[in-house]
Amino acid sequence: MAGFEDLCSEIINCKACDLFYSRNRSVCGRGNLHATIMIIGEAPGAKEDIEGVPFIGRSGKMLDKTLSSYGLYREDIYITNSVKCRPPIGKTPKSEHISACGPFLYREINMINPGIIVPMGNSALSALSVTLGFKTGKVTEMNGRVIACKGRLIIPQFHPAAILRNPKRMEVFRENFQTVARLSIELTAHGYEDVLARYRVSSVDA
Ligand code: SF4
Repeated sequence: MAGFEDLCSEIINCKACDLFYSRNRSVCGRGNLHATIMIIGEAPGAKEDIEGVPFIGRSGKMLDKTLSSYGLYREDIYITNSVKCRPPIGKTPKSEHISACGPFLYREINMINPGIIVPMGNSALSALSVTLGFKTGKVTEMNGRVIACKGRLIIPQFHPAAILRNPKRMEVFRENFQTVARLSIELTAHGYEDVLARYRVSSVDA
């Protein structure tokens, strides 16, 4: 997709915020450019920063294993991050980083046009709420809810790194992806309005 290659090239060369100083490589989103499901993480980790590929460390392996148990694979989904450059070690992205990188996320959403978006963790949820213009709480309050926004279903989820730190949340993490897999099939078979009606999904559209 020509527009996607241009977008990645802009991301690779971007110096729009100070994460430019801490990164080795910017990390563009990857996966199926016609995916129904888009997953958004927080930021590249150490391995991603070196190799320039999203979700290839421990969190990525755990994510892949969870997804595959519901018949979801990397080649079927699109995966990206709220910010495309690694923050300094031990730091999370600040609101100014999320704002600076927001136009890239906006363009990814418009290009891929996913029916379902799964923001994993607070940074991803915050980035998505800013990008799509809806109000949200923290991921601990929103986790597993199905939200309708501008023709898409949003299913906030814990970040895999949080599950690795606190395995007690693994069950709910898995249940959320089971819901994602089921709604993806329903969406393809019956369409957005039908899914909203049948599952009584609440909309955040004005
Ligand atoms: Fe640019 Fe985003 Fe990287 Fe900041 S985090 S330098 S806005 S690509």
